[in-house]
Amino acid sequence: MTWMSAALGLAGTLALQIGLIAFGFVTEQLRLARPQGISGLRLNVAYVVSLRLIYAVLLPVSGAATTLIVNALGGGLFALPASGVGLVFAIPCYALLMDGGEYLFHRAQHRYPVLWAMHSLHHSDPAVNVSTAPRHFWGEMVLKAVTIYALIGLLVKTNVTVVGFYTALGLYNYFLHMNLRVGFGRWSACLNSPQFHRLHHSALPEHHDCNFNQFFPVFDLLFGTYRAPKPDEYPPTGLESGEIPLRLHHMLFWPWRRHSRSPTLRTSSQPS
Ligand SMILES: [Zn+2]
Ligand SMILES: [Zn+2]
Repeated sequence: MTWMSAALGLAGTLALQIGLIAFGFVTEQLRLARPQGISGLRLNVAYVVSLRLIYAVLLPVSGAATTLIVNALGGGLFALPASGVGLVFAIPCYALLMDGGEYLFHRAQHRYPVLWAMHSLHHSDPAVNVSTAPRHFWGEMVLKAVTIYALIGLLVKTNVTVVGFYTALGLYNYFLHMNLRVGFGRWSACLNSPQFHRLHHSALPEHHDCNFNQFFPVFDLLFGTYRAPKPDEYPPTGLESGEIPLRLHHMLFWPWRRHSRSPTLRTSSQPS
């Protein structure tokens, strides 16, 4: 890959992300889950731009593509079909496998302090909306690439078609974070929704450690972390500590924030 195609790929991905955020923001106004300002959204957009540049250096491929790299190096016990009827089964099988891996990693992020120090950036948004979706500490993707994605690459031999479909499905993550009054009611156990995922981001203690799944709540059901949203339940979001990054550098260096003594890292004890 030349530097020109890499730059085009970077610009294209960034344009897609900004376009999704803009579209999501306009859509949210139709049925807001909770009223909110746009200062957090502006900061999230600035962070997305920074994140793209960091990934371009650290991880120029998507997480799912890591499995392809591991396959190319000889990994993959079970081969997934790339065409025909088999492909119809391969896509949901791969999505379910990845979802299981994401679920385990996400549980670990909430359990182990070293991982929570990073993941808490995602949870520090007091106004969860479409722009919260890519708000993850940059080191997390690198960690996932060398752990769960690599392990899945050792387990299954996948192909570009399956990975392409899965990467497109990943855009659902933007929908999940939308500030939208949308839930799936009695079907909540079948597929994640903005209401279901909002409970995971809730600042209320009764919602702690629930609804970890990315797509299919089946893993939450299996491991006892499933929490069905009540009708009209759209709780406030953010960290229990009330920590909120106010500047881009707070987000970029989030795990080390306690050592920075930054006067602008707001907490709930301070007025907003
Ligand atoms: Zn989480
Ligand atoms: Zn989230």
